[in-house]
Amino acid sequence: MNIFDKKLLVATKHYPLRADNIDTLQMNLGYKCNLRCTHCHVDSSPERKEEMSLNTILATVRVLKSNNTINTVILTGGAPELNPHFRKVVETLLKLGKYVIVCSNLAIYSEPGLRYVPGFLAKHNIKIITSLPGISMEEVDKQRGNGTYKKIISGLKKLNKLGYGNSDKRLKIDIIYNPLDAAIAPDAKKLQRTYKKKLKEMHDLSFNQLITFSNMPIGRLGRQMTKSKIRDFIKYLDKNFNPDTVCSLMCRKQINVAPDGKLYDCGFTQSMGRAVKSRHSTIDNFSYSNLSRRKIATGSLCLLCTATAGTTCRCCLK
Ligand code: SF4
Ligand code: SF4
Repeated sequence: MNIFDKKLLVATKHYPLRADNIDTLQMNLGYKCNLRCTHCHVDSSPERKEEMSLNTILATVRVLKSNNTINTVILTGGAPELNPHFRKVVETLLKLGKYVIVCSNLAIYSEPGLRYVPGFLAKHNIKIITSLPGISMEEVDKQRGNGTYKKIISGLKKLNKLGYGNSDKRLKIDIIYNPLDAAIAPDAKKLQRTYKKKLKEMHDLSFNQLITFSNMPIGRLGRQMTKSKIRDFIKYLDKNFNPDTVCSLMCRKQINVAPDGKLYDCGFTQSMGRAVKSRHSTIDNFSYSNLSRRKIATGSLCLLCTATAGTTCRCCLK
């Protein structure tokens, strides 16, 4: 039994951890990204080639069409906008009546051929979630590469101009803050006040909500840490276990489809290659009745999601 399961067994009523319905499906459209952030748990970069094929997209659409309980679809990557079928995917999901959220790094809007994206998303009232790991250029460029801060700010300006983050309730943009290193993210409410104030003062920018997210020491970040540092981090997470976070763990109501069509409990388990514990482990043989009560494939790093206030709360989805 892993250390996370032990904790669930002793301190909660949730052992073994099971899904409790599926209302959200996360589609990873590909690992290619215009950026190469130091904390990236999916190891995305401009060199990555894997992308979700049209066949896998169509299989996912079929699943969504026949399962109305799954009402929210999150498009992620890499940079989801780099998938050649991105636009069609968004339009098809909207026709199915799904609530669509796009995880966008915003710097992508400066890439050739992708300047259409902000206007396209605004036209369809698509919610955007983006990451901004600091308010200063120094902090952001250190984590996401030189020149990225200016592109993100420019992307935010375009979105604000289109109505995102302002009084128009249909156009929402949330910002995710994550620490530079493997550390538990700070209190979101407090940090939101600082972000709102500073971004207004510095760039006349606004957004809806700030979400804090801790970094998982896997992928690119994991490779930068020694085994003993990761062990110490897990001990720290274990010490800060908060049983109240278990009810709202993202994996309990969500499922992830990887670019190759395999199914995972969350983006972290996807990056670790730990598939769902079910014989229905690909989108081609999806079974709602089986997967909506599946046992979650937990591991010691799940402690990241249950430390202090929890880090994968679902409040950002609506
Ligand atoms: S963290 Fe996001 S923006 Fe950065 S490299 Fe990974 S996928 Fe791209
Ligand atoms: S890492 Fe994934 S599977 Fe583990 S608790 Fe967090 S959301 Fe659930």
